[in-house]
Amino acid sequence: MTIGDFDQGEEIATIRENVRRLCETFPGEYWRDLDREAAYPTEFVKALSDAGFLSVLIPEAYGGSGLPLSAAAAILEEVQKAGANGGACHAQMYIMGALLRHGSEEQKQKYLPRIASGELRLQAFGVTEPSSGTDTSSIKTFARREGDHYVVNGQKVWTSRAEHSDLMLLLARTTPKEQVAKRTDGLSVFIVDMQAAKRAGMSIKPIRTMMNHATTEVFFDNVVVPSENLIGQEGKGFRYILSGMNAERILIAAECVGDAKWFLEKASAYAKERVVFGRPIGQNQGIQFPIAKAYAQMRATELMVHQAAALFEAGKDCGEQANMAKMLAAEASWAAAEACVQTHGGFGFAEEYDVERKFRETRLYQVAPISTNLILSYIAEHVLGMPRSY
Ligand SMILES: Cc1cc2nc3c(=O)[nH]c(=O)nc-3n(C[C@H](O)[C@H](O)[C@H](O)COP(=O)(O)OP(=O)(O)OC[C@H]3O[C@@H](n4cnc5c(N)ncnc54)[C@H](O)[C@@H]3O)c2cc1C
Repeated sequence: MTIGDFDQGEEIATIRENVRRLCETFPGEYWRDLDREAAYPTEFVKALSDAGFLSVLIPEAYGGSGLPLSAAAAILEEVQKAGANGGACHAQMYIMGALLRHGSEEQKQKYLPRIASGELRLQAFGVTEPSSGTDTSSIKTFARREGDHYVVNGQKVWTSRAEHSDLMLLLARTTPKEQVAKRTDGLSVFIVDMQAAKRAGMSIKPIRTMMNHATTEVFFDNVVVPSENLIGQEGKGFRYILSGMNAERILIAAECVGDAKWFLEKASAYAKERVVFGRPIGQNQGIQFPIAKAYAQMRATELMVHQAAALFEAGKDCGEQANMAKMLAAEASWAAAEACVQTHGGFGFAEEYDVERKFRETRLYQVAPISTNLILSYIAEHVLGMPRSY
């Protein structure tokens, strides 16, 4: 049984079909081998880039296909639904937005066509730090202006894909927090050339995690970044990062919907074929109901993802919907994952079924890129008007 797509018209249906076909050439075995070695899916990411899927959001004038956010969401949903892991490359789709919306024409000409062609990978997003966590305005990495360049010192943590990216979008303080009127002022965004930075004091240390995510710690020791790599105005970086967050939330939510569909297809197929006590286990309501419930949860979430994407594409405020979509989708994929493991019994824990791998992978999205608690705080404060809790 295949779980159907949300009807978004012919163009997106064709994109979905093409992504499906590409993903079929990267079966479970491919992902299992990488997972065992904690290795990066270089061939998969290259195949997605070569097919133009990672550059759909880049305008045609810069070599991309200039498609709306819902096309990118459909691509990532299909990747996850095929059992693959878009976490290896999804950031390029949403962090490129900071450059597109706030970069100078010169910066866009310099980077976007080469990102679109796959020559340059913009996969690393350096925001989180060991001591600031969710409290982004407290980051300590500092970029000090010295003539025609900045000197960067500090440390990032959880910088995913840093070893597999040519460029990093870096958020750093350029004015100490004590000297700004608003705590979110005085932060700036830079494009860091990773190769040049590695030769000049930047070092990367992988972090091993419960799933294969190529995440790292990045240390900056007097790293020189040319001032021409500053995006937009100095001190306004927090706003630039924020402006991309709704896109990020919607795309991650679409990935979770894809994960949920993968788990639900896998669980219902197994429930029909596995015979215990002389009948398929799926004949028991104790097996059926968690799967059916997770299915309903996924479908409701899917509507919220599409509503959020439609508002985003219409240029309307979608903070509420994007946040809710992200939270609900992460919960729906987890409910489906849980039902899938339970349905598989002992085999849910065996590598060769891929269930345990996807189970580990999808758990991340209740924590990153923003945790459920912080979304609830957003809804309480910004939607329901209750006092800020932190
Ligand atoms: C695998 C992985 C990949 C990642 N990739 C990237 C990346 O590429 N780039 C990047 O910049 N970051 C990345 N992150 C970081 C991620 O965005 C953070 O982990 C996430 O934002 C949570 O921050 P924290 O881990 O510091 O948790 P903390 O901020 O320390 O929070 C810990 C817990 O406390 C809760 N909490 C904190 N404050 C409050 C409050 N006021 N009210 C209620 N609850 C609260 C949180 O919800 C959370 O559950 C990644 C993380 C992981 C695990």
